[in-house]
Amino acid sequence: MVYFDHNATSPLDAHVQQVMLPYLGSANASSRHSLGRHARQALDHAREQVAAAVGAHPSQVFFTSGGTEADNLAIQGVCAALKPSQIVVSAIEHPAVMRTALGMRRQGWQVRVAAAEADGRVSRDDVAAALQTPTGLVSVMMANNETGVLQDIASLAAMARKQGAVFHTDAVQALGKGAVNFSELAAFGVQAMSLSAHKIGGPQGAGALVLDKRVDIYPVQHGGGQEKGLRGGTENVAAIVGFGAACELLASRQPETRLGELRNAIEAGIVQLGGVVFGAEAPRLPNTSFFAFPNIDGETLVMALDRAGFAVASGSACSSDSSDPSPVLLAMGVTPELAQGAVRISLGYDNSMEEIQQFFQTLKRELSKLRQFAAIAA
Ligand code: PLP
Repeated sequence: MVYFDHNATSPLDAHVQQVMLPYLGSANASSRHSLGRHARQALDHAREQVAAAVGAHPSQVFFTSGGTEADNLAIQGVCAALKPSQIVVSAIEHPAVMRTALGMRRQGWQVRVAAAEADGRVSRDDVAAALQTPTGLVSVMMANNETGVLQDIASLAAMARKQGAVFHTDAVQALGKGAVNFSELAAFGVQAMSLSAHKIGGPQGAGALVLDKRVDIYPVQHGGGQEKGLRGGTENVAAIVGFGAACELLASRQPETRLGELRNAIEAGIVQLGGVVFGAEAPRLPNTSFFAFPNIDGETLVMALDRAGFAVASGSACSSDSSDPSPVLLAMGVTPELAQGAVRISLGYDNSMEEIQQFFQTLKRELSKLRQFAAIAA
C-alpha cells in the first residue's frame, strides 16, 4: 500500500518506536521511588525536546492526550478564567476547535465565525469586524488539515492583542511541515498553541498545549495535580517519550523542498486530468493537495484508489464517518456538488517520485472507468 494520508496520521517512525519501547511498562511518574523518578526524568526530557522543536521554554509545555484535548483545554480553560463575552473562530477550524467554541455558548459566550476567502485564507477584514465587539478569545489554525493553506497568524494575533483578546492557534498540522516558533509568534500576541504527536511520526495519544505564562487558564480535567495542576491524570509516559523523540527528529529533516516537488508533480497530473485543486493560490503546506474532479464522487474515487493500492482521504479524515461535503470547502465558496468530489493527498518523508508517477497512472485509469460508468448511468 502506498500511504498518502499523513495528515490523518503519519506512521510511527521506527526510531521513535525503539525509544518508546522501554517505557511501555513505565512506573508512575508521580511515584517517589527510583522507578518513578526515572519516568519523571523521561517526561522532563520529552518536555525539553518538544519545547526545543517549537522555540518555547520547557515550562511552557503542558502535555495532553493529543491535539483535540489541547484545543479543548485552550478554549475551555481560557474562557473559564474570563467573564463570558465573545469567542472568534475561523470558519475553517478543525472540529476540535469549532465544536468546543460552539459548546461555550451554553456558558453564555457568543461565538462569531470569521469567514474564509475563496483561496482558503481567513478573512482579515472579517476578523477585524468581529473584534469590534468585546472579545475574550480568538482561535485561528496555523495550517488547515484539508487544504494545507497557511494563515498569517502573526498579523491576526496582533489584531487580537490590540483588542485585549487571548489568541490561540492550532498548530497540529503545521508542526513538522513548516516553521512553528512559539516565541516568535508570542511576540505578536500568540499565547496558546496546540500540538499533536501522531502527525509528526510520533504515537497517537500524546500532544501538548504550549502556553504563555501570563495567560490565565483553568484546568478542564481535574485530578492528581499533574502538569502543574493544569491537566490531571497519570501521564502516558511512553507516548510522551515518543512525542519528544519525534520532535527531536524534526530538526534533522528538511521536508519543504522535496515534498513540495512531489506535491507539485501530483497537482500537474490532476490538472491535466481535468481536476480542480483547492487553495492552490494561497501559501500552503508542502505535503498537502486537496482536489476534486467534477461529477466524480470523492468517496467512490477514494475506494477505487484504495483497491488499487493507494491510501488517500476523502473530505476531512477527522470526520471520515460523515459523508457531508467538507465545511472548509463550503466556507471557501466551493459548490456542494464539487465539494462532494473532494479527495486529499498528504505526503510524508518516505514518499518518492516513483510512487507519484504510479499514482498518476492509477488515477488516470480509475478516473476513466468512473467517467465511463457515469456516462452509462446518465
Ligand atoms: N487539529 C487539527 C488541525 C488536526 O488536523 C487534528 C487531527 O487531525 C486535530 C486537531 C486533532 O488532533 P488529535 O488527533 O491528536 O486529537
